[in-house]
Order: sequence, then structure tokens, then C-alpha cells
Amino acid sequence: MEAYLDNAATTPINPAALEAQIQASQIIGNPSGSHRAARAAKELLEMSRERVGLRLGVGASEVIFTSGGTESDNLAIFGSIRDSPVALSSAIEHHAVLDAVRASKGRLVGVSSSGAIDLNQLEDELKDWGDSVGVVSVMMANNETGVVQPLSEVLKLARKYSPRALCHTDAVQAPSYLDVAELARGFDLVSISGHKFGGPKGVGALVVKKSSGLRAMLHGGGQEFELRSGTPNLGGIAAMAAALDEAETNREGNVRRVEGLTQMLRRGLSDRFPALKPNGMESPQMCSITNYCFAGLNSEEILFKLDSAGVYASAGSSCASGALNPSHVLLAMGRSKLEAAGSLRLSIGVTTTEEDVEYAICVVGDVIDELAAKKGIAWG
Ligand code: PLP
Repeated sequence: MEAYLDNAATTPINPAALEAQIQASQIIGNPSGSHRAARAAKELLEMSRERVGLRLGVGASEVIFTSGGTESDNLAIFGSIRDSPVALSSAIEHHAVLDAVRASKGRLVGVSSSGAIDLNQLEDELKDWGDSVGVVSVMMANNETGVVQPLSEVLKLARKYSPRALCHTDAVQAPSYLDVAELARGFDLVSISGHKFGGPKGVGALVVKKSSGLRAMLHGGGQEFELRSGTPNLGGIAAMAAALDEAETNREGNVRRVEGLTQMLRRGLSDRFPALKPNGMESPQMCSITNYCFAGLNSEEILFKLDSAGVYASAGSSCASGALNPSHVLLAMGRSKLEAAGSLRLSIGVTTTEEDVEYAICVVGDVIDELAAKKGIAWG
């Protein structure tokens, strides 16, 4: 048997999205052209833009299609910091934001032990840097712990102390479970990525509010309102629009079902390991992600054994090399290196079944027992 519990890394493609991608791939025109084949492509592109805008609560002309979450995040940070040079973000952002902020010598704001941004520290930074701040970037929900960030407080502070700054939120993990349009209300820039909610990989969008003055990173043909040159990935865009429609239409049902499965998973594992507590559980959390620290064990060993038994999970965010460094998110929450080096993220998705969860509880329980016994560690 196999159980895929790595939906925060990527999700299986939704049938409606796949169908949209196949249909779109049969259109041969380039949307920038002027003949009939090009116009058919342009029509589908603009229809998809309208659909995405509607679901994100913005106008179609405020949706910029990109190659995914990483590009959207980079555009949001680097496109905002030309005149006011300081980028400010939380210390638990995905590397797509974090490394862009670091590369621009920006500022990072710490989080509490429960994984929510420290609003006092944010206020101090904003007071110190004032109008030098070009962008404030705080994610909607963390990809390792699922902790939902207090975005309306972030927005209030940013507008009070740094009124010239653009406010960005990385909402990549949110569709299917959170009301992105509502939670991102008032933000200038919002990132999403198709493959996190049943769309294909390699396509995303950045909401760019009309008045933002964002500057392009990619220069060329001037596509996407001069903000992202390059021939758009029409099949991916049409599929992402279809996936977002599905995710939003079914959000309430998804939340109920996924929350039930997550509770079942947490109950099953806490029955086996009574002392075990999910990271971030004291904060509001998205219903799909559960993250544990098995201090003294090694994430790589845990994942290898789970993989051998057909349970697919991860240790936090995945990166291209597959190498596992102790998670910067867990370290920022005050976990020790020993704790962070034994982290395990189990993320449920809309296609997960009760059987998947039952199987995962057994396998995770047995793997942890076996590795802990080897190292003489007692759990719970
Ligand atoms: N932001 C967050 C919160 C993510 O979880 C991810 C992917 O894991 C990204 C950005 C990057 O998105 P993409 O894989 O589409 O480049």
C-alpha cells in the first residue's frame, strides 16, 4: 500500500485542470500575435485571468501570470525595493522570499515559539526603517507548520509606520483551505502557485494592485502588462484557473474532510506517543499540515524508512538537492538543532483517504518505535 502525505510539497493534478491543460495545448497560436489562431490563445489567456481574478477578489488586470510561487515571490520582493531599499519579512518565510530578502540585505522579524510573527518586533523594525521600507512580506500560512499569520495586524502596522511600502503575502499554501481573497484584503501583492491546489507545476500568479508601482524583473516582449515578459504558459495558466475554481468551489467541504483526517492522524499518533505535540499547535493552523519533532532521531532516516513502506512525507520544505538542513522555521520557533534535525511533516490533501491515514499512523508509529529503540530513546 502507498499513502501520499506530502501535499504541501505538491498535489496531484485535478481532473478538471488536466482537461483544461489538454484543451489549451491544442491551441497553436501565441497570444501576442494578431491572426485568428493567436486571438484564440489570447481569448483563453484573458478568460483564465478573469477566472483567477474573480477567485482572488481582484480585477483581471491585477493578475500577472508567472512560472510559479518562486518567481511570484522574487518579483514581489525585487520589484518593490528600488526607491525604498529595505525589504522586511518574517524569519519563517519560504526560501523564495527569505533568500530574496537576504540577497537584498533586508531585515527578518522573529516569531513566537508557536510560529506566529512577533508583532512587537515587527513594529520596532517598521519604526526604525520607516519610509526606507520598500516591501513588507509575511506569508499567509507557513508551509512547514501550517501556522496562519496575523495578516490584518501586519497590514495595520505596515501602513502606520511605512506607508510607502508595498505589502506582500505569499499565499502559496492557502487555496483549498483558506479564504485568500478575504485574508489578503488590502495587500498590494499576493503570490499563488498552481501545483499546490491541484493545478500543474511551473505556473503561478502574482496579484499586483494597480497603484503599486511594481517594477519588472524580466524584460523582453512586454507581456503581462509589462511586468513579466515571455510567452505565457497557456496550458498551465488555463489549468491553474480551472484548479482554482475547483479549490474555491469545494473549499468548505475540503476543510471539513481534511480537518477530520488531520485530527484522525494526530489522535492516532498521540495514542502511540502521548508526549508528542505538533509544532505550532498553540496558534491558528491550516487544517492540512502536521509537523512533529522527534528529538534525537534523524529526519533523513525517518523519511527513508517511511518511503520503503510506501508512506511519502517530508521533513519541511523540499529543495532541489534533496539535502536536509535543520529547518529554519523550527529554529526560528526556538526548537533546538537536535529537535529540528528530527522533524517530520505530514500533509493531507483533498485526495487523501481514511485508509491512507490509518496506514500512515501504523507505519509512522512502527518506524519511530524502531529508530527510537535503536538509539535508546523512549517516546511518550
Ligand atoms: N512559497 C511557499 C509558501 C511554498 O510552500 C512554496 C513551495 O513549496 C513556494 C513559495 C515556491 O513555489 P513554487 O514551487 O511554485 O516555485
